[in-house]
Amino acid sequence: MSKSLIIAIDGPGGSGKSTVARSVARRLGFTYIDSGAMYRAVALWALRLGMDLDDLHRLEQLAREAHIELPGDRVVLNGEDVTAQIRDPQVSEAASRVAAQPAVRRALREEQRRIGAAGPSVMEGRDIGTVVFPDAQVKIFLDAQPEQRARRRASELGAPVDDVARDLETRDQRDRNRAEAPLTQAPDAEYLDTTHLTPAQAEEAVLKLVRERTSNGKDHK
Ligand code: C5P
Repeated sequence: MSKSLIIAIDGPGGSGKSTVARSVARRLGFTYIDSGAMYRAVALWALRLGMDLDDLHRLEQLAREAHIELPGDRVVLNGEDVTAQIRDPQVSEAASRVAAQPAVRRALREEQRRIGAAGPSVMEGRDIGTVVFPDAQVKIFLDAQPEQRARRRASELGAPVDDVARDLETRDQRDRNRAEAPLTQAPDAEYLDTTHLTPAQAEEAVLKLVRERTSNGKDHK
């Protein structure tokens, strides 16, 4: 597996993963990888094709054929910038259904490992520290109280908090209870509750852990 330094950040939606992972990557000069964006991209493609999300064979085919690039903060699917489209609530819901399929996970996991092996990175998702990079040098499980997670997500989306809370809850349940690579804290991951932290405080807490677990975060290849 990869010898590059990997900082794995897992946790439920609205826990602050993207904000923290992105800013930590910027501070360290690492590549930032949003693995959820990859599931979202496959889901968007499936929805556009009007596919049956229970058609496992076709879903696997799609996951293998999808050409997903993550330049900077953007998400490009088959050459098209879909950064905004993949945030649609319908895509969120479809992403968590698609992500429950082992064959889809297998296809995207291979890609995630390939990207992670290419250089030091901060990768965020649900199973990065448990399955994708079980030997990642730094593992963090970010969490926050459900009401706070819903408030954050609602303000990002400009949507009613109650609707967002309901959607998040459904997705969380599915992500935590699926058979394949469920959302769970790796035994050697550090638990960080961001409920009462500002993004800057969460960033500092993560950087502190990185320093503790790597000699000053500088022993990457
Ligand atoms: O992180 P984000 O909310 O964008 O992820 C969308 C969905 O993709 C999640 O609800 C989850 O079902 C799935 N996902 C996953 N494994 C990952 C990242 C995301 O199953 N590593």
